Amino acid sequence: MNILLVEDEDAIAAPLAEGLRREGFAVERVATGSAALAARLPDLVLLDLRLPDMDGTEVCQRLRARSDVPIIVVTAKGEEVDRVVGLELGADDYVVKPFGFRELLARIRAVLRRTQRGTPDARLVAGSLEIDLRARRVALAGSEVELTPKEFDLLALLASDPGAVVGREHILREVWKTDWFGPTKTVDVHVASLRKKLGDPRWIETVRGVGLRLAPQS
Ligand code: CA
Repeated sequence: MNILLVEDEDAIAAPLAEGLRREGFAVERVATGSAALAARLPDLVLLDLRLPDMDGTEVCQRLRARSDVPIIVVTAKGEEVDRVVGLELGADDYVVKPFGFRELLARIRAVLRRTQRGTPDARLVAGSLEIDLRARRVALAGSEVELTPKEFDLLALLASDPGAVVGREHILREVWKTDWFGPTKTVDVHVASLRKKLGDPRWIETVRGVGLRLAPQS
C-alpha cells in the first residue's frame, strides 16, 4: 500500500512517515500542494490543509476531480474543522491535529477497507505480471514497470483474459476509442514498446490476421 503524505512541516512528516513505514506502508512525502498534484497516484493520500503554496482544500478537490483515490484530510483545530466538514471536498475522512499515531492508523485502515470493498477485480495477475487497475500500476516479478496511459490500457485489456486473442478492432475501440478499421500501426508501436518494457517479446503474441494475445511468462 502506497501512501502520499502531503505535509510541509518536517517535525510532523518525518516521524509520521517513519511510523507508517514500520506498519508496512510505502510512503512518499511531499511538502507542497503542487508536488502533491504532480505525484503519481497512491493508494491513499494523507493531506495537510495548511500548505505553503496553495490551500489544501484546493489540492483535495483537484485530486478528487481526477481520481477516486482515498483522501484523509489533516486539519488544525477549531474553525478549520467546520470548514472541512461544511465544504464538499470529497475527502473520505479527516483527523484533527494533534492526533495520535494509533488513531490515524485506525482511520487509514478503515478508509482503505471501505474504499476497496466493491473493487474485488482491481488486480489482474498473469504469470509474473501484476496489474493494479485502480492505482494503474504494473509490476513484473515485483518490480514496477513504467507505462504510458495507452500502454497500460492495452496491457490491462489483454490481461483481462490472458491467453484469449483480442482483435485489433476491439483494441482500437477499447483503448483508442476509435472505430477506425484502417491500418493499425499505432497498435503495433505500442505493442513493440510494451514487449520491450516487459523484457521478453513472448509476453505479447501476434496472431496474424486476428489480433493479439497475452502469453503469460513466469
Ligand atoms: Ca502544514
